[in-house]
Amino acid sequence: MYNKTALDGLFFISLPMEILDGKALSEELIDSVKDEAAKWKPKLAVILIGENPASLVYVRNKKKACERAGIAYEERRFPDTITQEQLIAEIEKINEDDEINGLIVQLPLPDHIAVPLVIRAIDPKKDVDGFHAYNLGKMFLSPEFEDLPPATPSGIIKLLDHYDIPIRGQEVVVVGHSNHVGKPVSTMLLNRNATVTTCHIHTKDLKSHTKRADILIVAVGKAGLITADMVKDGVAVVDVGINRTDDGKICGDVDFENVSKKASFISPVPGGVGPMTVAALIMNTVHAAKRQKTV
Ligand code: NAD
Repeated sequence: MYNKTALDGLFFISLPMEILDGKALSEELIDSVKDEAAKWKPKLAVILIGENPASLVYVRNKKKACERAGIAYEERRFPDTITQEQLIAEIEKINEDDEINGLIVQLPLPDHIAVPLVIRAIDPKKDVDGFHAYNLGKMFLSPEFEDLPPATPSGIIKLLDHYDIPIRGQEVVVVGHSNHVGKPVSTMLLNRNATVTTCHIHTKDLKSHTKRADILIVAVGKAGLITADMVKDGVAVVDVGINRTDDGKICGDVDFENVSKKASFISPVPGGVGPMTVAALIMNTVHAAKRQKTV
């Protein structure tokens, strides 16, 4: 469907590759909810534990996006010596605070804290990351039941939709099967009637799967995992990975330079899925406030 080359008489015509510009789309989406934000006056709280440099960057981006959308933002910081019980008590305080509509606990957490227990403690109505089993369960049923869908998968779907990349009936290969990205994006695409293959660390012969993909989504965290020989001509590639190179630059899991020569669409890192995750989070926060104030 996305064949980059098409036979036209005796000539092959090369169609242009398009960058999936998550940064520009994210700004557009955030601007599109400003009126709703002005109406429902959402407030987002972020709990940040410790000083993880990547977490500090992610939290700063979320704060900036809230400012752009007109969403009130509050950060509650704690040292990485906080106990699991103390953290859950802080979450419960926010659950009961009627002024706060959305809550994010920035991951990763220190090893002595069990992430599933922390996520379970968040009121599902305020779970704007979409990680709680209640929200994942609704997402599992069908697109109509998605209420607060997980932010990164939701951002990926918005990116595909914006560029009119068809999903129904397409061969989609997802590499990575984490609870926050790989599994939910596989499910959301299955619910949109794609034929989905989910690969992971134990998959035999990864290339035999990725080669078949009309849409390839990679969420692993290994720079250079996907090389040009692993994709077919005309593939649409969404690179979720975030890796730091030896010289301190950020890159994805896909060999962008060479894979982009075969792809019809490809998302860059940075500037692809990262900003789309933030946009989805902002949209979830506005939606959460509206639901809380109208029910
Ligand atoms: P994770 O560590 O929880 O899961 C990694 C997945 O990759 C697992 O399913 C594992 O089986 C699979 N895997 C590992 N090595 C593999 C290999 N050689 N071949 C095939 N599969 C392999 O990671 P995650 O939380 O899903 O995040 C994945 C990446 O996406 C990370 O780089 C993370 O930083 C990034 N991420 C980006 C965003 C964003 O907004 N851009 C959001 C979340 C995560």
